[in-house]
Amino acid sequence: MTKSPEHEHPVKAFGWAARDPSGHLSPFKFSRRKTGDKDVTFKVLYSGICHSDLHQIKNEWGNTIYPVVPGHEFVGEVTEVGSKVQKFKVGDKVGVGCLVGSCHSCDDCARDLESYCLKGVYTHNSTYYDGTPTHGGYSNIMVVNEHFVVHIPDNLPLDSAAPLLCAGITTYSPLKYFGFDKPGLYIGVVGLGGLGHLAVKFAKAFGAKVTVISTSPSKKNEAIEHLGADSFLVSRDQDQMRAAMGTMDGIIDTVSAVHPLLPLIGLLKSHGKLVMVGLPERPLELPVMPLLMGMKLVAGSCIGGMKETQEMVDFAAKHNIAADIEVIPMDYVNTAMERLAKADVRYRFVIDVRNTLKAE
Ligand code: NAP
Ligand code: ZN
Ligand code: ZN
Repeated sequence: MTKSPEHEHPVKAFGWAARDPSGHLSPFKFSRRKTGDKDVTFKVLYSGICHSDLHQIKNEWGNTIYPVVPGHEFVGEVTEVGSKVQKFKVGDKVGVGCLVGSCHSCDDCARDLESYCLKGVYTHNSTYYDGTPTHGGYSNIMVVNEHFVVHIPDNLPLDSAAPLLCAGITTYSPLKYFGFDKPGLYIGVVGLGGLGHLAVKFAKAFGAKVTVISTSPSKKNEAIEHLGADSFLVSRDQDQMRAAMGTMDGIIDTVSAVHPLLPLIGLLKSHGKLVMVGLPERPLELPVMPLLMGMKLVAGSCIGGMKETQEMVDFAAKHNIAADIEVIPMDYVNTAMERLAKADVRYRFVIDVRNTLKAE
């Protein structure tokens, strides 16, 4: 017989969960395993809200297992470590992203690309190796194998560091992998939300000339004056888009909804690369003619491996990169989701779990 969420494990935990495709989040009691030999247990302090959480609570990808406690970019303070843990001690400031398990033996794991491991386990909406569902960071406590934990350097504020664990690595990794990290390249970032604004910051730190391609003209001033973008295109303005055709070496597309690719492929120079990281709920149309006429590439990228996640956090600390956030109390989360659906956030919501998540 399957046990109730409260009795699957010995350690009491609580958080907020969605229970059906309405996506409404409400208080939820569940449990976590005891700290195993290789586990790190920590008190959750801040948890970012990624658009993937929104897709998932509403079952937009068709694979949600309810109830689900979302949250896969969160930070906290270590309260206990297992006897075989080597990298962490009590009191350390740590973060966890999208992954809590991988096989450690496939080709991707061997190349530190755990996010592509076919036996990988996600932080929520997944089944762990012990057969129990995984639950994420909209909760008071986390227990996780140390391999999937990263150190947060002292000079990064914990609240604005939280989004690095998903939005940060998801943009840093493709910028590096596809060679967009060479100074002087012309890089486009489509969609100025949680992922997009960090993509701009990382691309600028790599020395790129960055153009934001957005549906929101109201974001132009901030993109240029505050985030450091070099230029801004309104994607629905055909004249602006036409004038910029053939100017970009690479584009990172973070858009969460169905949108046309043709204008984006048009922005690329010959041999340019369009890298998809946004995950709309339905397939996009791929126009082939303009791809082959310029030997262009359309690719995808999913978060990043653990070694690179630590590298990204250290790079962010060195270059003073963190997310621009709106810190919210736990009970604002449903309103935050409504606003996120309308691209109304500058640029990431972060839940103040420590001070506002109350046990029922
Ligand atoms: P977000 O903060 O909501 O940002 C998405 C942005 O896309 C919006 O701010 C908006 O920017 C633009 N947009 C929204 N609707 C649009 C539409 N109909 N047409 C054109 N542009 C539109 O979301 P996020 O947290 O950055 O996540 C973005 C996407 O990445 C989501 O689909 C998420 O699931 C996915 N994701 C993927 C990975 C991965 O590993 N690949 C990791 C994390 C998230 P403008 O206002 O500037 O137009
Ligand atoms: Zn995410
Ligand atoms: Zn593997």
